[in-house]
Amino acid sequence: MKYDVLIIGGGPAGNYLAGLLAGKMDVAVIERKGSFGGKACTGIIGAEMYEALGLPEKAVLNAFNGAFFISKKTVFEIKRRTPQAYLVDRKTLERELAKKAMRKGAEYYLATNFLGFRDGKAIVQHLDSKFAIRADFYVGADGINSTVAREINAKTEGEVLRGWELEVLGNFRRDKVEVWVNKEINPEFFLWVAPINEEEARVGTFGPIDSLAKFLKLRRLEGGKILEFKTGAVILGWRKPWVKENVALLGDAALQIKPTTAGGIVFGAYCARVLAREILKGDISKYEKECSWVRNQISFGLRVRKLFEKMSQESIEEVFEILGSEEAREIIEKSASFDDHVQTIKAILKSPKLLAKLIRISPMILRMLL
Ligand SMILES: Cc1cc2nc3c(=O)[nH]c(=O)nc-3n(C[C@H](O)[C@H](O)[C@H](O)COP(=O)(O)OP(=O)(O)OC[C@H]3O[C@@H](n4cnc5c(N)ncnc54)[C@H](O)[C@@H]3O)c2cc1C
Repeated sequence: MKYDVLIIGGGPAGNYLAGLLAGKMDVAVIERKGSFGGKACTGIIGAEMYEALGLPEKAVLNAFNGAFFISKKTVFEIKRRTPQAYLVDRKTLERELAKKAMRKGAEYYLATNFLGFRDGKAIVQHLDSKFAIRADFYVGADGINSTVAREINAKTEGEVLRGWELEVLGNFRRDKVEVWVNKEINPEFFLWVAPINEEEARVGTFGPIDSLAKFLKLRRLEGGKILEFKTGAVILGWRKPWVKENVALLGDAALQIKPTTAGGIVFGAYCARVLAREILKGDISKYEKECSWVRNQISFGLRVRKLFEKMSQESIEEVFEILGSEEAREIIEKSASFDDHVQTIKAILKSPKLLAKLIRISPMILRMLL
């Protein structure tokens, strides 16, 4: 068997890439599972990027035009006129992307596990049979525990975080996400409530499991009204290199994950676009360099993450007070981008008044962000 491109992993990143290349090249995707979807993932994706990347409308379950930011002492609301983020169904997202790729000619091998490379070929296993697939380019889109990354000796430097996600029954404001930042509940990460509709929402966090139980109590969501419970993991940091000869890593396999929110779908799809362009040129050596927007976002996000780890709840309360002020909310409502956090923070720091207030809390904030 011989293809131009063999993509290992039929998650959002792999399927999206397959759709970009199919019809122009011979593309195959191998996926370990027997069906698409099923991963723990809230499915919040910035609306602007969702549309710019041409992700499937059919997967959208809900649209958010703002958020409630809630600390221990402060609550403020950010309202926009248009949807800022979508809540998507992961299974539909992955299936629709795969269907698009298949219609354009991509071949899919489900329930097929990539085992490793031997003599320049991919060795795969389907049920009891092992066989080799040869390709000009191989793409590892096989998630954080990437076998392809291991095969090319990519080195990982990052923070592993276990994530928890529930679907719960309750009463919700359908058009707003809730972002709770309270280190007494969870010292490691924020907690979120993302409504699917008025009576169902996805609730989750990364970090200790008991934080979720504490949060359900605080948010008055009853433990007995859980419709689904899922767990998964992310790694926030770097895995390098993204390319070795004719093998590239994509999506979570390359840790193309936002360190501020642990979202990875947009960065993976963005890098898939870059990679598709480079593959079509026949030379992938500049792929990593050409993904500079994502690398800058990760590098900035890692600094924000470090800052969050160092901050006490008292400092977080002070930052919330500043961000909840009318001036800050106006800036956020005008310039914030769901996926471009560099742009959002730069817009806030451009205001001399807000800058002075942030320095007063701690010069460390600016040192780490600038
Ligand atoms: C609790 C939680 C909540 C999250 N919420 C969000 C969110 O709201 N928004 C967001 O953008 N991101 C979110 N994420 C992150 C998001 O899930 C990932 O960034 C995204 O799934 C990455 O897509 P991917 O295609 O790179 O990898 P994956 O989705 O991991 O897909 C990899 C695929 O490769 C397959 N595979 C693995 N090994 C092999 C092998 N050896 N052979 C063949 N196939 C293989 C797997 O079966 C899988 O289908 C969340 C993650 C967690 C854990």
